[in-house]
Amino acid sequence: MTYIKWKCLNCGRINFSNDMREHLMNVCKCGSSGIDFENEYVRCLGSLIILKKYDYNFFDEIIINLIKQGFEDYFLKINGQIYIEDLKLLKIRKLEDKIIKDLK
Ligand SMILES: [Zn+2]
Repeated sequence: MTYIKWKCLNCGRINFSNDMREHLMNVCKCGSSGIDFENEYVRCLGSLIILKKYDYNFFDEIIINLIKQGFEDYFLKINGQIYIEDLKLLKIRKLEDKIIKDLK
């Protein structure tokens, strides 16, 4: 997943956006700037500076390590394939976001 760390030039807040989960404009809490980026483009609203762009895949790391440490039952196994329920997927995504924010 690709993350962009950006700064709103109206209020100075540092924001994080990613290219997969939000297919809408990701707006700063003050409402004066926002960003929407996908693989092919970046669309900006208001005044902002892009500080950094990084690619991380903590999501796969978290899943692989949970399975390695014996938490296979946390996931659904159907015909040898591993599936993740929506609620658990959201929890893992939130954890991934926390890790990214801690790295800033
Ligand atoms: Zn702002």
